[in-house]
Amino acid sequence: MTPVNLIEATKVYCRLFFDQSCRCLFCGQTQSHQVCPSCLVLLARLDGPLCRCGLHHPAGSPDGGIPAPLCGRCLRQPPPFTASQAPLHYSFPLDRLIGRYKYRGDLVAERGIEQLLADTPCPWPDMDALCALPAHWRRRWQRGFDQSQRLTDRLASLWGMPSLTALTRQQATPMQQGLSRRQRRRNLHGAFACTRPVTGLKLLLVDDVMTTGSSARAAAECLLRHGATEVRVWTLARTRER
Ligand SMILES: [Zn+2]
Ligand SMILES: [Zn+2]
Repeated sequence: MTPVNLIEATKVYCRLFFDQSCRCLFCGQTQSHQVCPSCLVLLARLDGPLCRCGLHHPAGSPDGGIPAPLCGRCLRQPPPFTASQAPLHYSFPLDRLIGRYKYRGDLVAERGIEQLLADTPCPWPDMDALCALPAHWRRRWQRGFDQSQRLTDRLASLWGMPSLTALTRQQATPMQQGLSRRQRRRNLHGAFACTRPVTGLKLLLVDDVMTTGSSARAAAECLLRHGATEVRVWTLARTRER
């Protein structure tokens, strides 16, 4: 890097820090939080009774009670995890915030996400430990960090629970978009490996977003195969449709 580029890079970083650290990430209003109170109430929440897959189910329990009932799709292919929950709907503008963080490594966006986490109670404090649904090392290297692991560690400290690094992703999963359910499953076959003993543990698998749930299924299957007694899933956001 030339000295000029270094100066420019420093300027960009400083601008980012001084301009955005005191502005709402959504509306740009100057204030003391990353997400201002007016924008916070606009984020779509996924309240209400839930199926095991984390989507609405009229017979479900609003507080994530176990056992969760099964929707038609889950009845046909029951998820290996016993429940899943996400506080927020993955839609505009939250999708932009998560994208900024995940794909551009924007640490100001991470502070916004941490603010959202601070308002989120643990739905199942009876679980033994949190476990990140990890990215493949190549993706982690490209991004410079693993957002699921950072999210898990943050939640572990907020919720006062241990964070157990028990999974690795052995294959860089090809893009899942546009693939059928069966193709997604095939892509994820053998994608995860268990790297430490989990026998007898009730584990809460953590990720940023759940879309089809295929990765969560594969990771939960791996943990259960290695002796975990139960796996539930928590993600910051979830798409409404699969
Ligand atoms: Zn705002
Ligand atoms: Zn379901």
